[in-house]
Amino acid sequence: MANIPKSHPRYWSLLYREKIIEGMEKGITAKAGLIAHGRGEAFDYLIGEKTIPPAEEAMKVAVAKLLLAKHPVISVNGNVAALVPKETVELANVVGAKLEVNLFYRTEERVRKIAEVLREAGAKEVLGLKPTKRIPGLESERGKVDEEGIWKADVVLVPLEDGDRTEALVRMGKFVITVDLNPLSRSARMAHVTIVDNIIRAYPKMIELAKEMKRLSREKLEEIVKMYDNNRILSEVLLYIRDRLTRLAEEGIWKRKELS
Ligand code: ATP
Ligand code: MG
Repeated sequence: MANIPKSHPRYWSLLYREKIIEGMEKGITAKAGLIAHGRGEAFDYLIGEKTIPPAEEAMKVAVAKLLLAKHPVISVNGNVAALVPKETVELANVVGAKLEVNLFYRTEERVRKIAEVLREAGAKEVLGLKPTKRIPGLESERGKVDEEGIWKADVVLVPLEDGDRTEALVRMGKFVITVDLNPLSRSARMAHVTIVDNIIRAYPKMIELAKEMKRLSREKLEEIVKMYDNNRILSEVLLYIRDRLTRLAEEGIWKRKELS
C-alpha cells in the first residue's frame, strides 16, 4: 500500500482510496467499483465527510429491522470487502445475520476471493458461492442468489448497490436496507431504509447501535420501525446539503482551512 503521510489533511480519504485500489489489484474489487467509489467520495464532500442526523435515524431503524428479522442477510460486494471486511462480519454477528457474497459483475474467482477475505475477517459461514436461485427480472449473472441467503431472507442489507437490483429485491417482497452516499441514486430511492453515509463510518456506528439495541424488547424495536418514513429522510438529507452549501457559500469557503 502506498505510503500516505498521516499529516495529510485528507489522510482517511486517501487511505480508503488505497484500500479500493489494493482490492482491485487482488481481484476483489471490480474496475467499475473504482468509479463507484469516486462517486461516493463526491457525495461525501457534500455532507461534510461525517455522519449526519438523517443517516443516524436511518441506522437506528435499519438495526431495529435487522434485529427483528427472521432471516436477515447482509450482502457483500467487492467494494465492501475491500473497505470494511471486519466490520461486516461483526455487524452480521451482533444482529445474527447471514453473509452472502452478491456481485453485480459476478465471476467465480471474485466470489471465492471475497469469501476468503470474509473468512480471514472471522466469518464462519459465507453464502453465495453456489447460488441456485435467481431474482426474477434480472438477467442470469446479475440475478444469482443463494437459496439459504437472500432468496430466503425477509430483511436484506445491500450496501453500495445498483438501483436495478435494489428494485428487483423490493419487488420480491424483501425489506431492503441500503447504505449509499448518493441520496439521488435509484438504490437510495428504491430501498425501504436508506443510510446516506460512508460505509466506513456507518458500519462501526451500526455495530455500536446493535449492541445497545439488542437489549430492547420487540415491542420497542417495532415502535422504532413504525415511525419511519424513508422519503422524509431523503428529503432531510437534500435539505441538509442545501443548507450546508448555503452556509459555506455565505461564509466564504476560500477563507477556511477546515470545512464543517
Ligand atoms: P443507481 O443505479 O442506484 O442509480 P449507481 O449506478 O451509481 O446508482 P452503483 O454504482 O452500482 O449505482 O452503486 C454504487 C453507489 O454506492 C453509488 O451511488 C455511490 O455513491 C455509493 N458509494 C460508493 N462508495 C461508497 C461508500 N464508501 N459508502 C457509501 N456509499 C458509497
Ligand atoms: Mg446503477
